[in-house]
Amino acid sequence: MGVKAKCVFGPVPSRRLGMSLGVDLLPFKTCSMDCVYCECGGTSSLTMERAEYYPTAQAIKEIDAALSSGVKIDFVTFSGAGEPTLHSGIGKIVEHIKSAHPSCKVCLLTNSTLLPDPALALEVADVDLIVPSLDGSNDEEFERINRPVPGISVARVVEGIAAFRKISKAAMWLEIFVVPGVNDSVESGRRFRSHVERIKPDKVQLNSLDRPGTEPWVQVPSKESLEALAEAIRPAAPVEIVGHAPRASKQPPCPSAADFNSRVLGLVSRRPCTAEDIAESLGIALGSVESHLRRMEKAGLLEIEEGQRGSFYRPSSEARS
Ligand code: SF4
Repeated sequence: MGVKAKCVFGPVPSRRLGMSLGVDLLPFKTCSMDCVYCECGGTSSLTMERAEYYPTAQAIKEIDAALSSGVKIDFVTFSGAGEPTLHSGIGKIVEHIKSAHPSCKVCLLTNSTLLPDPALALEVADVDLIVPSLDGSNDEEFERINRPVPGISVARVVEGIAAFRKISKAAMWLEIFVVPGVNDSVESGRRFRSHVERIKPDKVQLNSLDRPGTEPWVQVPSKESLEALAEAIRPAAPVEIVGHAPRASKQPPCPSAADFNSRVLGLVSRRPCTAEDIAESLGIALGSVESHLRRMEKAGLLEIEEGQRGSFYRPSSEARS
């Protein structure tokens, strides 16, 4: 797999972080898990091997350029199509952002599988916010939802997150992705509560399907089941059911067609987006975005997939190659 052209994308609107400048350090799609709900599609390289998958110096250069451009950014967020802590230079990059851009907040979205490694935990301890995932309340749920590299247990992941909590001042929002029929039972709620008591995060966020996932059997949970799970966990920490971020109001001028194409492909190659998501991210009127998207679809650059929130755009296989 070759090195990608650029690791910085967005800023994209995030349901939880406001405007977030994404940093995606992994080749598509390298991860230590193969989650059934992953919006990026199936994992092609399932690994726990840490390596410099993207040149660290180049990543720093791109982040510096984006942060100097004057665009409003709430967070620089390590995320994307893979597990960011697999990148061996992530510690250096965090250190650089914190020293060269002290007012900038850094967020790490992680699937938590590498946090039990004390060296890695120390490397990323200076982030401002960590959002570790814990989707399985026991090993059976973990296997069904996250399909991790063999040999990782929920107990080990919980201990890794709890140990990180002790060495880092970062705010911690523990994320549980709720998959109806797998991790939303009363028993799951009880087990999650005991893990949350051990980890002591600032809050727990219950997330659920918002875009088409990898496996079509994954459904959106009912409001009642999310509320019931939240109630079960709540004695141990505040629990939030994740909602949508407010829409942007100011509309900057439209980019050129070529610029629009490259910005849209940059967004949708990381996660499928609706026309509304794209309009919000690029800060362009929805009508104008829709007509650009129709042109891109006609030109064979985009494919459409229907999801719970409407039509989602993905790059066509032609645009990916
Ligand atoms: S959701 Fe995250 S952890 Fe799960 S497969 Fe996708 S990139 Fe990996």
